[in-house]
Amino acid sequence: MFLLLACSPAFSADQASKSTFLSGIHKKNQISCADCHGKSLAVNDSETALNKNCVECHGTLEKLASKSKEHINPHNSHLGEVNCTTCHKGHGPSKAYCNYCHSFGMKIPAMGSAEQSNDKKWTQETSQKKSKKEKMKTESADVVVIGAGGAGYVASITAHDAGAKVILLEKMPITGGNSMLAAGGINAAATRFQKARSIQDDPAEMVKETMKGGREKNDPELVKVLAYRSSDAVDFLASLGADMTDLVRSGGVHADRTHRPVGGAAVGPHLVKVYRENAAKRKIDVRVNSEVVKILSDNNGTVTGVQVKGKHSGLYTIKAKAVIDTAGGFAANNELVGFYKPQFKETASSNQPGATGEGVVLAEKIGAKVIDMEQIQIHPTMGGETKVLISETVRGSGAILVNHAGKRFVNELTTRDKASAAIFEQPDKSAFLILGEDIRKSNVQIDGYIVLGLVQESDSIEGLASKMGVPAAALAATVDSYNKAFDAKNDPEFKRQDIPRKIAGPKYYSIWVKPGRHHTMGGVKINTEAQVISTKGTPVVGLYAAGEVTGGVHGWNRLGGNAITDTVVFGRIAGANAAKFIKQHTVKKP
Ligand SMILES: Cc1cc2nc3c(=O)[nH]c(=O)nc-3n(C[C@H](O)[C@H](O)[C@H](O)COP(=O)(O)OP(=O)(O)OC[C@H]3O[C@@H](n4cnc5c(N)ncnc54)[C@H](O)[C@@H]3O)c2cc1C
Repeated sequence: MFLLLACSPAFSADQASKSTFLSGIHKKNQISCADCHGKSLAVNDSETALNKNCVECHGTLEKLASKSKEHINPHNSHLGEVNCTTCHKGHGPSKAYCNYCHSFGMKIPAMGSAEQSNDKKWTQETSQKKSKKEKMKTESADVVVIGAGGAGYVASITAHDAGAKVILLEKMPITGGNSMLAAGGINAAATRFQKARSIQDDPAEMVKETMKGGREKNDPELVKVLAYRSSDAVDFLASLGADMTDLVRSGGVHADRTHRPVGGAAVGPHLVKVYRENAAKRKIDVRVNSEVVKILSDNNGTVTGVQVKGKHSGLYTIKAKAVIDTAGGFAANNELVGFYKPQFKETASSNQPGATGEGVVLAEKIGAKVIDMEQIQIHPTMGGETKVLISETVRGSGAILVNHAGKRFVNELTTRDKASAAIFEQPDKSAFLILGEDIRKSNVQIDGYIVLGLVQESDSIEGLASKMGVPAAALAATVDSYNKAFDAKNDPEFKRQDIPRKIAGPKYYSIWVKPGRHHTMGGVKINTEAQVISTKGTPVVGLYAAGEVTGGVHGWNRLGGNAITDTVVFGRIAGANAAKFIKQHTVKKP
């Protein structure tokens, strides 16, 4: 889908030459439209040609990263190969995309920060021109996938490999969704990586613990699929090139089951990079800035495609025999959260700004049954007043939680709902994570929190207590008692099952944490074949769903590490079944 730009001949040459629609360095240097857009002056929603020209002029992300001495360098961050236009605009001031979720005091070079954005005006004018001139276009594919997070990529890759022509649509300017923010890891039982470390685990245990964590409100059939196919899921990721070799324990689990890249690196950015590379290698049609606004169906309720609103192309239709809804959860949607759980409205959210729940609404409109929407998970440890999630693996690596009196108050490895409830009962409804040098070294993510300014450190417990504003003697006694529990392999007070490391110097660290909304357990009802179930109890023909957009897998409380498993296990099932459905319903030409 292409659209001619504002500086096409129809547009005033005078305006173009005066760079009316440009800003920053492009305006200063009097860049012409063709310099960025090429001779055809066409732009598609993914801004492909535009970005190619950005790289030709300014260099690759790698080259730009090597020029910068900044400690936090967006060109070298966990974004991987993403569009330059995700952050930079020729027609308005740039904005670091990562600041939607993080808060970096990052200045974008060569941009006038006070400049008024022309981007909106430009986009509006170009789309108005289009809507007057053109009637809605129609494309076709075998399978359309809504939302390019983990589940969307996995479903797309699987459907493609089974022979389907796939279009993967993402409404944000960047793919990855919440999946890209996942820090801890992916749970899987009885994997070859666990066996290599002599870790005893069993899918039956994973079923039991997932059900217990979900307060037995999960759909047991979905949980069985999750657990018994989890080892396969990790092998699938490894086959795509992911590193799943490191293991740690998450809350509510008896074994080291959470798989992550070596050194404890964050799992999400790694996986999304692997997914992007695999989708590119397969030439899957991935489109950003492309929001699905409607799932189309015929009179029988059978899915026939989607309607898309492209940033540049406006409204258009993609006909498809199968649609896979992988549009994620809604924890970033204040209104929807407030509707289902008024007490959580206005609480901080750890989610990316696109996690607003349209996937549920779109499916509901064509008859899908929606369940457990009021089950919204509060994560116990978000960094103070920020949107940065402090991964559960920090506790899994040995950190303790203390209150403002310097005392432990909960088993740190209990489930998220219980840990959050315990923090809410503390004065100031906040707490501190306390850790020592070994724990820091075991988890590379903690270095990231240090860079973000979320960590206080000291050479002594007393020094740390003074920085935190808690009684030094109480904190020292708490740490001493925890270290004794490590030696005795027994935590009499809180019954913590696993204490992998002592809290010991030379340096001690604390992170101020508050609970924040994190995961939406409810969503579209599916069966074990990832088919969306209608309010009548039968599958909506041609509609599949996977990942956070669905309800039932996690019950009323998700265990840390189980969401990525959900995206991979059910993403694969959805992709394979959608491709199978296409084959069954494609009439072969004689
Ligand atoms: C900070 C953080 C850390 C986490 N850490 C972990 C962890 O360590 N382990 C774990 O198991 N889980 C973790 N989770 C949870 C897990 O990351 C998510 O539940 C999971 O990644 C969801 O994947 P998904 O593919 O279903 O959705 P997403 O990855 O959110 O992808 C959905 C995509 O759909 C797009 N979209 C939405 N509506 C539309 C539309 N109408 N048209 C087109 N596109 C649309 C969204 O923009 C988004 O990109 C974490 C979550 C967060 C926020």
